[in-house]
Amino acid sequence: MIPSQIRTAPFSMTIYLDNQATTPVDPRVLEAMLPYFNEKFGNASSRTHCLGWDAEEAVEHARTQVAALIGGDPREIIFTSGATESNNLALKGIAEMHRTRGNHILSTPIEHPSVLETLEVLSENGFEVDLLPVDRQGRVDPEDVAKALREETILVSVMMANNEIGTVEPLAEIGELVERKGAVFHTDATQGVGKVGLDVHSAHVHLASLTAHKIYGPKGCGALYVRRKSPDLRLPRQIHGGGQERGMRAGTLNVAGIVGLGRAAELCLDERETEVAHSHQLREQFLEDLRQGLGELQLNGHPTERIPGTVHITFPGVDSDSLMMAMPEVALSSGSACASGTLEPSHVLKAIGAHPEHARASLRIGIGRFNTAEELETVADQLIATVTKLRRKI
Ligand code: PMP
Repeated sequence: MIPSQIRTAPFSMTIYLDNQATTPVDPRVLEAMLPYFNEKFGNASSRTHCLGWDAEEAVEHARTQVAALIGGDPREIIFTSGATESNNLALKGIAEMHRTRGNHILSTPIEHPSVLETLEVLSENGFEVDLLPVDRQGRVDPEDVAKALREETILVSVMMANNEIGTVEPLAEIGELVERKGAVFHTDATQGVGKVGLDVHSAHVHLASLTAHKIYGPKGCGALYVRRKSPDLRLPRQIHGGGQERGMRAGTLNVAGIVGLGRAAELCLDERETEVAHSHQLREQFLEDLRQGLGELQLNGHPTERIPGTVHITFPGVDSDSLMMAMPEVALSSGSACASGTLEPSHVLKAIGAHPEHARASLRIGIGRFNTAEELETVADQLIATVTKLRRKI
């Protein structure tokens, strides 16, 4: 159960509904991290004194907490600076490792830029990258994966859940096909992990990227799950230096951040059921309130296979920037934080075949652990009033 005093999060008057961009650090995570800044500040690689041993012990404990969240072994967790680095390490590492076996890579057009841009670099370096189609709801059809897999396919990368529309991909079905073909299966689990269950073995996942700041941990700390048995993957390092993280990722470990990631993972695992029910309940009431005021809604993403807190709505005839500007005390987004600021409609909405006009009329509302029913009621009222006003101006 989440203690009630932390439901009222201590951040200003803004109603924060952008939990896909980042989440506030849970006070329980912060509490676990604090001693590692100035009391237990040792370097986890220092072998000659107790400050080093304490730091190493804390890192190893975090490794067990992160592994437990995804059904892995602690020795399979590599700490990184976040999911961007994990995705780079996974994709470039497998490409380098398996170059002699083949040069074909499969992925999807709705991945995060840290996957898509890395694949772009790999294709400039001679790899053949094919992007699988997704349907109107953003789902990959496993049959399309079966058709696209070839003898030369070395790697398939499909995200666990989409950061814009919230659709969850059929990882287990895809993973089984990939494994049978002898290729490596990577998933960017950043948005799904902690919100939807992931067991790397039953999903046939060999590599999984995640980050602390989407699960109420700190920014700048993430992890890559790297399978040790069938197959035993030893990724060539992308950052050179000391031999940290089994030689796969050099650099002094961010002990406080890692402790935070571990505690955040533990809380997600312990409280997932309560949290899913909380987000689901808030989402359903919010949609019901909106329907009362605006009639039938145009929702994007899959109706059931989705992360519970993400709502993505198109308000035809309304410009999403004008909508957000009219509600300055609500923190919302029209797409992903990485892409907002560009005038181009989001690559995800393009890939699901949304009309460009609709892409510019869409909002992402990310409900999280600390949101309350009152907040959502306030936002629903404001949205109804603003959408109605903006439509009258057309
Ligand atoms: N993948 C996905 C799906 C994401 O949503 C994000 C963050 N927006 C990332 C990767 C990158 O994570 P990080 O910020 O930890 O680099």
